[in-house]
Amino acid sequence: MIIDGKQAASDLRIALAEEVSSFKKSKGITPNLTVVLVGDDPASHVYVRNKVKQTIEVGMISNEIRLPASASQAELLSQLTFLNSDNAVHGILVQLPLPSHIDEAVVIGAINPEKDVDGFHAMNSGRLLNGEADALVPCTPQGCIILAKQHLGDDLSGKHAVVIGRSNIVGKPVALLFLQENCTVTVAHSHTKNLADVCLQADILVAAVGRAEFVKAGWVKKGATVIDVGINRLVDESTGKARLVGDVDYAAVSEVCGAITPVPGGVGPMTIACLLRNTLEAAKRYG
Ligand code: NAD
Repeated sequence: MIIDGKQAASDLRIALAEEVSSFKKSKGITPNLTVVLVGDDPASHVYVRNKVKQTIEVGMISNEIRLPASASQAELLSQLTFLNSDNAVHGILVQLPLPSHIDEAVVIGAINPEKDVDGFHAMNSGRLLNGEADALVPCTPQGCIILAKQHLGDDLSGKHAVVIGRSNIVGKPVALLFLQENCTVTVAHSHTKNLADVCLQADILVAAVGRAEFVKAGWVKKGATVIDVGINRLVDESTGKARLVGDVDYAAVSEVCGAITPVPGGVGPMTIACLLRNTLEAAKRYG
């Protein structure tokens, strides 16, 4: 079975639009997401364009602040100080990656945690670690849980979730979220021994590695649910055309698993939908 992330994201946006509308009526506040984009990275511009479009579509205000690639860290920080204290702004997102002369950790640490809709600030990571309900949770991991539940139902307790990848933005938070769902969680990474054997134990297998078609059919237990976070560009040598593939060997794994998220059209669309969800949540707490 294919887990349709595009449809799930569309359903979530429709539900959010209704919530935004009633929040505006009851509180007189329109949630505002402000995206800060530094430099000219073409992929970042595409991501920001999509974020802006979808923010407006659910009835929120979208602001975009563009700084040149030459902007200093101090200029970016002073922009954040201004946004942190602007009562009309509920969510702040600094599009990553930043130019190499700017320290991403310092910038993320300078965002007001209550407006940190990416959920990357140490305050929000700590809240997630502690299982506190007021954490703003990173968007891609939220999307993974929603898609896993779509196939398996709301009760994931007792399932063995194996997460390949331990980054701060995907692997670690998604592992913590599965733990909150009472799963038994294994985090595998680049130093894991016998990775195939570890993966074979998974009822839910999450691949967040960044390597095209890395997870093979022989690593997947029959009937397992596979969540593929990877986004990799592969160029077809014969045609020269590029296509997107995930971290899972989709065609072969589909024959073994019970359900799988495709790339594109799986986890990717959920990320922006969950960003909008976090923005509404931040605005509700403010209002
Ligand atoms: P990252 O490079 O920060 O982390 C990759 C992780 O994979 C590391 O923790 C590393 O230990 C592990 N790894 C690397 N080689 C390995 C190996 N041989 N065996 C086992 N583990 C290995 O990447 P990230 O930011 O977590 O992103 C992972 C993938 O997810 C990328 O393809 C990225 O493009 C994609 N991504 C997608 C979305 C989305 O919206 N769908 C969002 C974020 C990231």
